[in-house]
Amino acid sequence: MKIVAVEPFIMHLPLTQSSISDSTHSVTHWGVVGTRIRTDDGLEGYGFTGTHSHLASDRLITSCISDCYAPLLIGEDANDRTRLWTKLARHPALQWVGRAGITHLALAAVDVALWDLAAKKAQMPLWKFLGGQGTQRLEGYNTDIGWLSFTQDELVAGSQRAVEVDGFTRIKLKVGHDDPTTDIDRLAAVRAAVGPSVRIAIDGNGKWDLPTCLRFCAQATPLDIFWFEEPLWYDDVASHAALARATSIPVALGEQLYTLDAFKAFLSAGALSFVQPDVTRLAGITEYIQVADLAYAHRLPVVPHAGEMSQVHVHLSYWHPASTILEYIPWIKDHFEEPIRVEGGVYALPQHPGAGTTPLAASLERFGQSLR
Ligand SMILES: [Mg+2]
Repeated sequence: MKIVAVEPFIMHLPLTQSSISDSTHSVTHWGVVGTRIRTDDGLEGYGFTGTHSHLASDRLITSCISDCYAPLLIGEDANDRTRLWTKLARHPALQWVGRAGITHLALAAVDVALWDLAAKKAQMPLWKFLGGQGTQRLEGYNTDIGWLSFTQDELVAGSQRAVEVDGFTRIKLKVGHDDPTTDIDRLAAVRAAVGPSVRIAIDGNGKWDLPTCLRFCAQATPLDIFWFEEPLWYDDVASHAALARATSIPVALGEQLYTLDAFKAFLSAGALSFVQPDVTRLAGITEYIQVADLAYAHRLPVVPHAGEMSQVHVHLSYWHPASTILEYIPWIKDHFEEPIRVEGGVYALPQHPGAGTTPLAASLERFGQSLR
């Protein structure tokens, strides 16, 4: 399995709605920025990271792949995933300019492509290649009904549809208005509409400060919130730990953390209850496994963030015993050879060999962007 080609790509895929917003982001397209890696035995592996479809920064990622990583990969044995991850991540000149950020997102794409290759070579879906089904039932939670840009009526209608028509027992709603009482009103309306048994998580996307979160949590506690995701600035370990000590609402985070070391800092501080790693921001599956095992050692649930819209995480979650819940956002699934599928609120077990990352040729053709 000698690597003979590393070929980056950028796709900008339109959302299922025309646009959405949370407290800090607004997007109209999801960026699928990654690479194909070909080997001398004729196999092709695909890996990608997720972006806001900002072409200039997407090109920094593909340039890192083609100009910095490809020369280190060509001629190497694609089976040597751990060694190659270390070679790229610890390359002195590249480590000097980025142990997080662009270089890490680019490494995520490369690493996922190598795992996709290995599973395809073994002719197994990734979950099987990793060791089989550690999780018997993987429930989806629907985030796509809960955007901050929705009116309260849209929020209530979407939540009811997700529960009553689509069979979800778990949903997530965005919070983070300038006046948090607006969020309390919206949450109370959804809770009244879907009843007491539906698990409602909320997500602040890092907007509020500690005093705002403390006041908000006191008001939200009677609404039975399953978790409060990214309540505070992403890197602020001490404030998350203070909030976790002060409220009975479990704290969740991880989608903005780049490294194993960052997760270690939050876990050591007792700052979170639901661990949310993302293969597209960690440097791929290799580092994801380290984080999932670290969470497992703390006996905490691993609930991945869907930066790849769950094409890869469905495999990792069905494999890793700490995962029983996975985010569901159906924006890009129809652009892949084996789209994720949720029925009655439960993820279908993938069947195709590989990591679920092979894009449709027609989608690459239609939504592909120029790399330079
Ligand atoms: Mg989130």
